Amino acid sequence: MAHEMRTPIESGCPDGFQYMHPVMRKNYGQWAYHEDPQPGVLVHTAHSGDKIWTVRAGTQRILDVFTLRTLCDIGDKYGEGYVHFTIRSNIEYQVADEAKVEPLIKALRDAGFIVGGTRNSVAMMSHTQGWLHCDIPGTDASGVVKSMMDELIGEFTNWNMPNRVHLTTSCCQINCGGQGDIAINVQHTKPPKINHDLVSNICERPSVVARCPVAAIRPALVNGKPSLEVDEKKCICCGACFPPCPPMQINDAEHSKLSIWVGGNHSNARGKPTFQKLVASGIPNNPPRWPEATAVVKKILKTYKEDAKDWERMNDWIERIGWPRFFEKTGLPFTKYHIDNWRGARASLNASTHIRF
Ligand code: SF4
Ligand code: SF4
Repeated sequence: MAHEMRTPIESGCPDGFQYMHPVMRKNYGQWAYHEDPQPGVLVHTAHSGDKIWTVRAGTQRILDVFTLRTLCDIGDKYGEGYVHFTIRSNIEYQVADEAKVEPLIKALRDAGFIVGGTRNSVAMMSHTQGWLHCDIPGTDASGVVKSMMDELIGEFTNWNMPNRVHLTTSCCQINCGGQGDIAINVQHTKPPKINHDLVSNICERPSVVARCPVAAIRPALVNGKPSLEVDEKKCICCGACFPPCPPMQINDAEHSKLSIWVGGNHSNARGKPTFQKLVASGIPNNPPRWPEATAVVKKILKTYKEDAKDWERMNDWIERIGWPRFFEKTGLPFTKYHIDNWRGARASLNASTHIRF
């Protein structure tokens, strides 16, 4: 007997309203203002007079089932059964009763979670997927985040910074990842080494050739087999050829480094969005704790904390003091690698005596 086809399940983004706390649903678009009673807690007041408290706790983004269940159990027992996640992997609990806030915070802390990440703190670091879920990373991302946030925990749970600080990490140079006040990104430092025996079996050569932003890859015959060759003088070591053709081996423990960029800001609330700029390069990609990269991040944060005026974001602070003073104050060495001379960037090529960063 023929089976009836089941109705397909529509995928896509579900309607978010069904998951919202009833007070949020009722006052949607009608919020008057919000306050920050303590780190990790927000209280929103609606024009109707309704209030809702939000308690924010940091999580590790890639959550195991046990941790998710623990977080949900806390929400059912101490909250009102409603949570959502922020784009920086924080979980947020909403309650309409102020008396529930302190027991909820205590339950989270007792279970080992940290509450904070609001206002002028170092928010939870956002990161790409690393070795857990991607085939092209040159470093782990979750590991770097864990090591760094362990050392910055006091900055997450307190309001010590001049303004909010967003940190990001990216595990390749080309795909996901984001702008941050401080971004820790992988940096390849040598052209790919081609495993010619594998190219003809694995790679679609035209797509690899097309991938290269500086046209450094050409088809070639090697030992009588179709393969590829790289013009190493042109190659900018971006790693874009590696995803479509893993035999273009660019990742390696010694030459895949970390770099640190600062001053990126998506927001155009008070000024134009800004691009982050490279301030430290060639940092060893040194698992499991990445001490060298963490030391640079801490140095930048310490200088920013001491020197920036209240409510200056990282990019505002640097714009006020200027890039030369940024390097002086942080003690980071300024090298030739900080000068933008990428041959493809005609518009930003250094063609005058002015130094650009
Ligand atoms: S940043 Fe690159 S390597 Fe990392 S998860 Fe995204 S695409 Fe993969
Ligand atoms: S690393 Fe980038 S620049 Fe170099 S050959 Fe590959 S795609 Fe081209």
